[in-house]
Amino acid sequence: MDTSVQQIKDRLDIVELVKEYFPLKQAGSNFKAPCPFHKEKSPSFMVSASKQIWHCFGCGEGGDIFTFFTKIEGLEFKEALQILAKRTGVTLQTSFTGQPKDKKERLYELMGLASDYFCQAISRAPQGQEAREYLTDRGITIDIQDEFSFGYALQDFDRLYQYLISKKYTTPEIIDVGLVVVKERGRAMDRFRDRIMIPIRDINGHTVGFGGRILHEKENAPKYLNSPQTTLYDKSRVVFNLDRARHAIRQDDQAIIVEGYMDVIGLVQGGVRNVVASCGTALTVDQIKLIKRFTQRFLFCFDSDAAGVQATERGVDIALKEGIDAQIIQLPRDTDGNALYKDPDECIRKDPEGWGVSVKNAMPFIEFLTKNELRNNVLRDPHTKTQSAHKILAFINRIPDRIMQDHWVTYLAQQMSISETILWEELDTAKKRLRMPFRPATVSPASGSVTKSRSRIDSLEFSFIVSLLQSPESIGTASGLVRSDMVLDTDISALYNLLCSDYSDSTSLPSFGTLVASLSFDADLAQRIDAAVAFEESEPGKTEGLCARIRSRYREHRLQELQTLMANAEREHDGKSVSQYMEEFQKIQKM
Ligand SMILES: [Zn+2]
Repeated sequence: MDTSVQQIKDRLDIVELVKEYFPLKQAGSNFKAPCPFHKEKSPSFMVSASKQIWHCFGCGEGGDIFTFFTKIEGLEFKEALQILAKRTGVTLQTSFTGQPKDKKERLYELMGLASDYFCQAISRAPQGQEAREYLTDRGITIDIQDEFSFGYALQDFDRLYQYLISKKYTTPEIIDVGLVVVKERGRAMDRFRDRIMIPIRDINGHTVGFGGRILHEKENAPKYLNSPQTTLYDKSRVVFNLDRARHAIRQDDQAIIVEGYMDVIGLVQGGVRNVVASCGTALTVDQIKLIKRFTQRFLFCFDSDAAGVQATERGVDIALKEGIDAQIIQLPRDTDGNALYKDPDECIRKDPEGWGVSVKNAMPFIEFLTKNELRNNVLRDPHTKTQSAHKILAFINRIPDRIMQDHWVTYLAQQMSISETILWEELDTAKKRLRMPFRPATVSPASGSVTKSRSRIDSLEFSFIVSLLQSPESIGTASGLVRSDMVLDTDISALYNLLCSDYSDSTSLPSFGTLVASLSFDADLAQRIDAAVAFEESEPGKTEGLCARIRSRYREHRLQELQTLMANAEREHDGKSVSQYMEEFQKIQKM
């Protein structure tokens, strides 16, 4: 694995890779740009061509080409490795890519072939023309039909099956991807017949399943038929259109989540790019985690019927637990409060302006729910009021962040004239009931991890090690002044120890990765040190000053410690220890 990662790094320049996403400005020997991973005006995102690393001094993110690529594309490391390997022509050991690589690859190709086959049929077969007309009648332009690779599955018993067999795929493979069903006497029959087909693709753009709508409605044939769960198609992990929408989602920092793929297609045709669908009923945890790679803000826009409301609430429920900012887009209503359009698709067709306003007015789910409850006049009697408050509290309870919870408790208290204390008591009881440990009041989990570990690191020792790495010629001097036990951070101390023992006569050092390879160095700290070495100005003579500060801090600290130790030893009448401590005390005083 290490060798292929290194090979890819050797072949792919980080500056070139980043430039594919946004322009970089030269700044000395480095490059800079506004950070794509947090909102900012002045650029604090730096790229070092010589070190092949990047770092953002605003949000603290950073790393190498892999961390950049996984973050910007929202991929797992393994996926990124596969894509970049392909791109750079590096062969990966199969043991690392997951054993059945060949098998899966073949199945993806099989599905791609089936998709092409359906596309051919919609363009050429006579019934395909009918399918085209149906789509055009529904207002889907030819361009969008092509963009989403709409196709047609012929009426015939096993035309697709025979075609795939002729392409050297085996019956078990074709069954495995869900394209055929086995009838009595073992005959394989095409699962989709006389249907308008739309491919369902995973986040990497592989076709993993299909949705099919019947062209000529028949009594015993379902109107809509989707691929079953297969080796390739895990329904709880596929988000429709995420492969196309992810860049727009990151750019807009919000994802619009709708119920079905027709809504997605309608919105895309109306110029909305950041839209995805769960392709089932409610969103699953895995789907939410996939979308969360690109944004923390979800705008739900489900149908206005009861089923839609229910699906929204279930999706929001999980999203809130994941710390997502869940908002609701409410489609335009008439003066009596009745929905004017049944779904987003209809809305954007008939009233694109109204759609735009609805998106702009999207409101946080808790606010939406509260307003909805109040509209139903729940305050009229204590029973309905209590019921409502409990319903809303159940959602507030899902929010992992205590500050955010506090915000909504205050809001609910005001809206429903209930005392905040009582609401908190109710929340606490609910939590105990769920046996959920209380989270201490902290910043949101997203930014929390960065700030927490950052404050953990001693800034003096951080500057000290950075300065040594920038000017290796000062290691010799430092080793005479600062012992490694004077450095309190265990990681930095271990690295310092290594520098003193192996590099005190060196004027240049191996790469940071090589240096810390033998130490179990904290990855986050390693990345930040590496970035500081690359991007911060080095000052000649800085090391000596830092040595003096570390020494004096150690001196103060140790003197205090020795006083306590001496007092304890005296109390225990341990004369030997007392004199030992005394000796050290006097020695350090002269330091
Ligand atoms: Zn940043």
